[in-house]
Amino acid sequence: MITVLIVEDEPQLLRALQINLRTHGYHPVTANDGTSALTAATEYRPDLVVLDLGLPDMDGVQVITTLRTWSQVPIIVLSARHGPEDKVEALDAGADDYVTKPFGLEELLARLRAAERRSVPAPETPVVTTKDFRLDVAVRKAERDGEQVRLTPTEWKIIELLVRNPGQLVGQQKLLLEVWGPAYAREAQYLRVYLNQLRRKLEPDPTRPRYFITESGMGYRFEP
Ligand code: CA
Repeated sequence: MITVLIVEDEPQLLRALQINLRTHGYHPVTANDGTSALTAATEYRPDLVVLDLGLPDMDGVQVITTLRTWSQVPIIVLSARHGPEDKVEALDAGADDYVTKPFGLEELLARLRAAERRSVPAPETPVVTTKDFRLDVAVRKAERDGEQVRLTPTEWKIIELLVRNPGQLVGQQKLLLEVWGPAYAREAQYLRVYLNQLRRKLEPDPTRPRYFITESGMGYRFEP
């Protein structure tokens, strides 16, 4: 589901947008000023932002500038200002599109769809640092006590699935399907072998795993 952060200080318009976006299959989250917009953006990591430029506590352009220091989320600006310089200022700050108030819902929905198509989700590329080892998943580099550890492509696939869900159980089936493919869905012993291998390479005491935990009969969990 696509999460849309709606930032608007007019309660009626905010409510109308929230209801309409929900009707059209979006997951709307809302903020009514710039400060709460920035907090909500960090908290919900929206896929799209609809931002009113005239906010009570700060200029919408400032919200765009701040967001752009860490996020590439598509931003569609709503504004009652009609001058081309306002448009230019918002676009220069990093907005992706601009809708002038009053606008029709169909127009906004079309802009949202266009923004969705353009946005390329940046894959999360976690770097995991523990007391005992460091894993850079993006470049597939593993270090233990300052020394490089060689992991096989299969081991990396398993690690990726586990570290992207820290503290959470990743089911045996999911691991088998995603690492080896559907033909191997029942080969739980593969996992046992590979997990033991990983533990020997990374765990301080492979017989008593501290990081790569077995949830008996269910799957595995990475405990950072
Ligand atoms: Ca406003």
